[in-house]
Amino acid sequence: MGEFVPRFERAFAELCEVPHAVACSNGTTALHLAMESLSIGPGDEVIIPAFTLIVSANTVLQTGAKPVLVDVRPDTWCIDPALIERKITPRTRAILCVHMYGHPCDMEAIVRIADRHGVYVIEDAAQAHGATVKDRPVGSWGDAGCFSFYANKILTTGEGGMVVSHRREVADRAALLRNQAFEQVRFVHREVGFNYRMTNMQAAIGLAQCENFPDRIRRKKELAERYDELLRDDSDFDRPVQLPHCRNVYWMYGIVLKPSFGRAMPEVRRMLSEAGIETRAFFVPLNLQPVFQGRHPRWPDLRGEYPVSESLGGNGLYLPSGFELTPEDQAFVVERLRTCKR
Ligand SMILES: *Cc1c(COP(=O)(O)O)cnc(C)c1O
Repeated sequence: MGEFVPRFERAFAELCEVPHAVACSNGTTALHLAMESLSIGPGDEVIIPAFTLIVSANTVLQTGAKPVLVDVRPDTWCIDPALIERKITPRTRAILCVHMYGHPCDMEAIVRIADRHGVYVIEDAAQAHGATVKDRPVGSWGDAGCFSFYANKILTTGEGGMVVSHRREVADRAALLRNQAFEQVRFVHREVGFNYRMTNMQAAIGLAQCENFPDRIRRKKELAERYDELLRDDSDFDRPVQLPHCRNVYWMYGIVLKPSFGRAMPEVRRMLSEAGIETRAFFVPLNLQPVFQGRHPRWPDLRGEYPVSESLGGNGLYLPSGFELTPEDQAFVVERLRTCKR
């Protein structure tokens, strides 16, 4: 934690238009740190989307709280605000929303619900650096915003993470807990902390990436626009959307195969792979994860239905979305994708 760490924190806070940022070791520790800084713990419930990376549930469990699942919207693939309120109980402490594949959640609706019920909003913006709602960056809407700088993220330090916040007390507590809760008087501790520090070397890389951040965002948009153009007239799958007043940063270009496509997603992925095209399946919804099938008081509730999450998990995949793709690469991907139809 040398001089580059605070410099990277300041630069990244500026990108997010927030006064405070605390760098940490990865996106997972950023989420855990944010929840610990808001004193979320045993006995509490945290609302998360059913369609997300397992990290959303795991970090809630790590605090001792219980994750509660809510289905997502079929268009943005983000948590559906219309379904949140029925899952709020007297134990609910926070809504942890995930900006999926680059599209922001409906932050106005989520903040309104949170205010009405006196619960926190934590944003997982690991896939959406630079996305905005009404020109306001993700990460700046909630009580805390969490970012990952893992190797495949829009901005990367190899491994790395950041908690951003408007609230000084949240950032101060995150900074304290990040470093074993060391205080002024060395080796006297009043809290249980962690080693979630970022190294100086990673921060130097992050700082340099902040400088060419607008280029990175532009490049992702270019790639998405080209796929959109190539796929425009095709109604056999859903493509990423960009809702009014939102900026999608298209971290990954996902498609969801419709029944009319005629072939199942795993087989399509296999055929593309044989043509030398690497893809990824969408997330397996949390309610279908083997790890949560047993009985445990803190495992997420599997009752209730998550039809959108299940349909996305079963039929979604993302196409090559790397910065180095050429227009020819993209045309080849789309041509091969079409040959998979039946
Ligand atoms: C990548 C990612 C994380 C975890 O970040 P790491 O840096 O890999 O720990 C958390 N949430 C989402 C939505 C992610 O995409």
